[in-house]
Amino acid sequence: MSALAKNYNRRKIAFKKGKGSFLYSSNGKKYLDFVQGIAVNSLGHANPYLIKAINRQSKKVWHVSNAFLIPEGERLASRLVRKTFASAIIFQNSGAEATEAAIKVARRYFYSIGKKKKNRIICIKNSFHGRTIATINASGSKKMMEGFGPKVAGFDHFKFGNLKSLKRKITNNTAAVLIETSLGEGGVKAHSKTFLKSLRKICNKKNILLILDEVQCGIGRSGDFFAFEHAKIKPDIVPIAKGIGGGFPIGAVLMTKKVSTAMIPGTHGSTFGGNPLAMSVGNAVLDVIFKKGFLSNVKKISSYFNVELNKIKNDYPKLIKEVRGTGLLIGLQLFKDQTNFIKKLEDNKLLTIRAAENVIRILPPLNVKKTEIDLALKIIKKVCKEYRA
Ligand SMILES: *Cc1c(COP(=O)(O)O)cnc(C)c1O
Repeated sequence: MSALAKNYNRRKIAFKKGKGSFLYSSNGKKYLDFVQGIAVNSLGHANPYLIKAINRQSKKVWHVSNAFLIPEGERLASRLVRKTFASAIIFQNSGAEATEAAIKVARRYFYSIGKKKKNRIICIKNSFHGRTIATINASGSKKMMEGFGPKVAGFDHFKFGNLKSLKRKITNNTAAVLIETSLGEGGVKAHSKTFLKSLRKICNKKNILLILDEVQCGIGRSGDFFAFEHAKIKPDIVPIAKGIGGGFPIGAVLMTKKVSTAMIPGTHGSTFGGNPLAMSVGNAVLDVIFKKGFLSNVKKISSYFNVELNKIKNDYPKLIKEVRGTGLLIGLQLFKDQTNFIKKLEDNKLLTIRAAENVIRILPPLNVKKTEIDLALKIIKKVCKEYRA
């Protein structure tokens, strides 16, 4: 009997080691891991460069309080600022924390300019922003909120892609729109460029802040550093997490200069957030992702993967409904429940994970090799064939 609570429906495999795109189970099987801890291990398992960085820092200092200066965090923040829309950063430890901090920053900004009632946040119905009390209410998912009442006030919801319904929800008390640039858990759904551009315009017109949750789709996953870049828009606040730590828990909220002025001493804090060990790993991840050619390679290899997956879709038009997603955040939407398909892929040594709307989510590491993509394609084809048989 496990002493762990039963809040997960775990698959019965444990792993003894990992290397790059592969995981080795304790019973001696080798799996191609296209889950990577749900887009967390952006550079694969046991990356030698990250191992070096964490080892080096582990011999110096792991943790100090944010009551002191942390040079490793100063460096990570300044590098993120140099490469993005942001002017200031607050470090956290997870995606939910980063998203909650984003909500706090938005509300505190309007508070700081005397608009104390401008505090409501508009989100997409059935999206995903984490599992804290506030973020489950932001998600507007009945299932996630069930049993965790009372409802947290201050969130309004609109339907994915529906600008009209979004506009109807805007009032003078709307502080921000908070959406995932590209939905992960919600079914691997990307917004169109037009949608994102119109959203930015609406926010400007109504004096509303735009918060883009890039916890899953950010840090190179889309082929750009941020998934919103392709729409050529700038958000006001962006929570990140998953990919930035390469497997080490790091979260952060990035913000413009304008809103950062509200975050005066005492307004927010974290015991663990931004400690030297985490920051050193984050810097090492950026060393790799910011290397010339790294992101263009993500674009190249993901478009190859997409083309080949669409060929499979065309061969099995009654099984696969759509190939979705951006970059290496990929969704294979089936016409019916995907559970059995995911199990069959696993039996054939390919690990994937579910998302809403019958979607099989495929999340290779960003440094995945073409031969590994080809191996995955071979396994997916084999399982498709078994389905037809
Ligand atoms: C995973 C995720 C979160 C929550 O991250 P945790 O680290 O699990 O708290 C928030 N937003 C999005 C878009 C995510 O994918």
